[in-house]
Amino acid sequence: MERVVVVGGGLAGVRAVESLRGRGYEGALTLVSAERHRPYDRPPLSKAVLAGESDDTTVDADWDALRCDLLLGERATGLRLDARGGTVASTAGDLPFDGLVIATGAVPITLPGDGPQHVLRTIEDSRDLRSRLTEGARIVIVGAGWIGAEVATAAAKKGCAVTVVEAADTPLAGALGPEVGALTAPWYAEAGVGLRTGVKVAEVRDGGLVLAGGARIDADVVVAGIGVRPDLSWLDGSGLLLERGVVTDGSFRAYLGEEEPGSARPDIVAAGDCAAWWSARYGRRLLVEHWDTALNAPDVAAATLLGQDAVYDAVPYFWSEQFGRMVQYAGSHAASERIVRRGDPSGRKWTAVWLTGDRLDAVLAVDRPRDLVQARRVIAAGTPVDAEALADPDVPVRQA
Ligand code: FAD
Repeated sequence: MERVVVVGGGLAGVRAVESLRGRGYEGALTLVSAERHRPYDRPPLSKAVLAGESDDTTVDADWDALRCDLLLGERATGLRLDARGGTVASTAGDLPFDGLVIATGAVPITLPGDGPQHVLRTIEDSRDLRSRLTEGARIVIVGAGWIGAEVATAAAKKGCAVTVVEAADTPLAGALGPEVGALTAPWYAEAGVGLRTGVKVAEVRDGGLVLAGGARIDADVVVAGIGVRPDLSWLDGSGLLLERGVVTDGSFRAYLGEEEPGSARPDIVAAGDCAAWWSARYGRRLLVEHWDTALNAPDVAAATLLGQDAVYDAVPYFWSEQFGRMVQYAGSHAASERIVRRGDPSGRKWTAVWLTGDRLDAVLAVDRPRDLVQARRVIAAGTPVDAEALADPDVPVRQA
């Protein structure tokens, strides 16, 4: 392999570059990224940057030592594939490759309507929103998910009048399910944030929102926190299999055409928020839009590109900081049978675990980092747990 192109300069892109060099790749390396900044971390954008405590989250990478051509502020516009290798069409010209890393991440979904709305994905988004979080400003956030809760936290701290509007009946219903999501609802009132659940937004208009029944909510600032979708339009017509994300095998090889063993391309990998990878652990495809996956998956993708055997088998992990709490989740509860609580959810510190039989599927720890670490270890090992003991918050989470 002599010429690798990495498309996308987020965390997954920079990690792919670092891993390729770390694994001994000596050929030409180009990273093309639509943003004009060097790769930076996004989690602080809805936390320290929004709060005005930080303004620079650039990833600490030694670009000279990495010997990587950085094409910043340039966008990939198309992909032509040959039997092996191909060419990325870009605003900086054609970029031929014999190895390709797709790391174009995701873009926020916006609300219908032609009124002004804010999203939170880039450092510019965060600085712009920060400048509008002034005392008394009416901030209406659509979506009580991770981003919505974090923006509400920052806005309430700055003395804004904050309302969060959520289509589901509880916050975080999509991510955690209604039972556990409901346990976070009191946090809003406690922070002085209005929470309106079961409310569908029709459109954004000048001065606020119009709801499905025709009612209005007035706002100085509307923030859409309703999720993201992978940024894949440049791959249209390339022949790669795209569903919600670039479809890959467990080693992050992208499929050309159908998902069959022989159609995975060894010279094209995808990682981070744009990749829908096969998880042998869960027996299904996962698309994990979280920092830990963008940090660690690219090393497996780089190994694959270099012909080294590697499979990604991590237990998904993420965290969120909301309403003064550290919220951490690991695992996947999509098929779980039941939920056990550790500690009193009306208190400051508690944990919920999801189980199937005597196996731990997932954990949500609220200001209980030890539970998270212990449970994550048990989930990764797949060993049985003593379900009775789990309900006692004073007993460590451990295998039976
Ligand atoms: P991205 O970071 O989206 O990077 C993709 C890059 O590719 C972008 O720079 C984009 O401009 C560029 N690009 C796109 N299309 C093209 C193209 N055609 N040509 C060239 N370049 C292109 N996760 C957690 O686990 N915990 C958190 O607390 C948390 N907080 C978050 C807060 C915010 C505000 C956001 C936005 C995300 C947060 N995340 C969090 C998620 C985490 O940041 C993402 O999972 C991670 O950034 C994904 O990295 P990525 O490199 O795959 O994609």
